Amino acid sequence: MKEYKNYINGKWVSSKSGKTFENRSPANWDDVIGTFPLSTREEVDSAVKAARKAFKHWSGVPAPKRGEILRRAAEILVERKEEVARLLARENGKIMKEARGDTQEGIDTAFYAFGEGRRLFSFTTPSELNDKFCLTFRRPVGVFGIITPWNFPIALPAWKIFPALLAGNTMVFKPPSDAPGCAYELVKILEEAGVPEGVINLIFGSGSEVGEASLTHPDIDGIAFTGSSEVGARIAEVAGKTLKKISLELGGKNAQIVMDDANLELALEGALWGAYATAGQRCTATSRIIVHEKVYDRFLEMFIEKAKNLKVGNPLDESIEMGPVINEAQLNKIHEYVEIGKNEGAKLILGGERLKGDAWDKGWFYKPTVFVDVDPNMRIAQEEIFGPVVAFLKIKNLEQAIEVLNNTQYGLSSSIYTQDVNNAMRAIEKIEAGITYINGPTIGAECHLPFGGVKNTGNGHREGGWTVYEIFTEIKTVYIDYSGKLQKAQIDTWETGE
Ligand code: NAP
Ligand code: MG
Repeated sequence: MKEYKNYINGKWVSSKSGKTFENRSPANWDDVIGTFPLSTREEVDSAVKAARKAFKHWSGVPAPKRGEILRRAAEILVERKEEVARLLARENGKIMKEARGDTQEGIDTAFYAFGEGRRLFSFTTPSELNDKFCLTFRRPVGVFGIITPWNFPIALPAWKIFPALLAGNTMVFKPPSDAPGCAYELVKILEEAGVPEGVINLIFGSGSEVGEASLTHPDIDGIAFTGSSEVGARIAEVAGKTLKKISLELGGKNAQIVMDDANLELALEGALWGAYATAGQRCTATSRIIVHEKVYDRFLEMFIEKAKNLKVGNPLDESIEMGPVINEAQLNKIHEYVEIGKNEGAKLILGGERLKGDAWDKGWFYKPTVFVDVDPNMRIAQEEIFGPVVAFLKIKNLEQAIEVLNNTQYGLSSSIYTQDVNNAMRAIEKIEAGITYINGPTIGAECHLPFGGVKNTGNGHREGGWTVYEIFTEIKTVYIDYSGKLQKAQIDTWETGE
């Protein structure tokens, strides 16, 4: 069993608390992956001091040179992809195919950031006066607190840390307690790639101690967070008091619409993948399937036939199609929602219980679950369950489908299957979500496109693509006057020039 350490100012150190916590595999709770330091506020403080000191040097390194380090990190991650993916599957429970995908997203993001080192574009624009030149450029924000969830243990930290580094920020990274091993691998790779001491600091520990310490720390300039809307709202409130720059990527209640003209085979594959990949524990997971009444019965029958035969089990076994959920508390929460659904009058037609037997008893395995006769206002159609549970809703036309889809506090991902370009265009225009897929499932983001949601899914930022640099940079506006005289904006004009 491995004993993991914090990384502060370029050194791997134990916590002064002397306390540790265990990381266990959700597929087999007897499998202890390692022990991790249960760190304290003081350690966050040391990490912030190191990050502040390192900012002076790191922010002055030319962006293309910072990019070179990220290219090296990408190359190391390519070499270690299989090893990292295995650890990821073991500690997070997603199947190997998806664990490789999670790791690949980290690789892609590092290469994209490397390229950005030679772009980091900004604007130039004309002045209203003669002999005056106007431009903007990007400066790093400073010291960031990076807080991520367990469900994408490589991709999500990569989405934040790589662009933050490229832009010249330094940081304190607080990883999730349920998947801390991948955070260690990522930081180790950055160290090997040549990130100087103090630039990235890694502090393991709880959200209530290490997380909260970052929110209130006066010398942290920004918080980049992915996680639940509940914790997100707390971050906005607490970190808002010291006027930090805050980016929040939060929950979802995503839906796939299946129209009567859809290719049903294609819609079926998409719905299964969207609903049960990562056992439904993706912010973009399909948790509502909204089907046109003309194809509802047929599509449901096709879906059940496949869902009941999904192979659930050990994520490291390549033939397995769905792994466990992350921990016992999550399993209980999912089961509570199943009870809520039944009590609300929805009809449970598949699953709705824990898997039992030698292959499953040591882990947190839940059956693929399906509810029908779901009313759009029921809690199971409104709240994020974060498990392998889908609700089927029947609609009469596109207008009603979109109304049902939009009827939630969240707005992350969405999908419509249709062969009719008019339906597709209307959906693109009217759906209230950050992402809409046409003839594709609600999951499947690519690193070079903006990612994020509307309503309670966030606070208006977009990670990914070029937009992530809005989070990790501040714009400096520059006016250069080469007229040799005082020119007064809004008062002098180019004509009089006086
Ligand atoms: P979570 O409970 O909100 O935790 C996320 C992170 O915040 C963890 O590192 C957690 O630490 C930390 N944390 C908890 N309480 C905190 C506090 N008071 N102050 C500061 N940090 C605190 O979320 P989760 O259960 O890990 O992840 C699932 C959620 O993430 C879902 O709602 C999902 O939709 C959302 N998600 C969103 C996106 C997106 O991009 N929109 C992507 C993936 C997931 P501990 O682990 O130590 O508790
Ligand atoms: Mg674990």
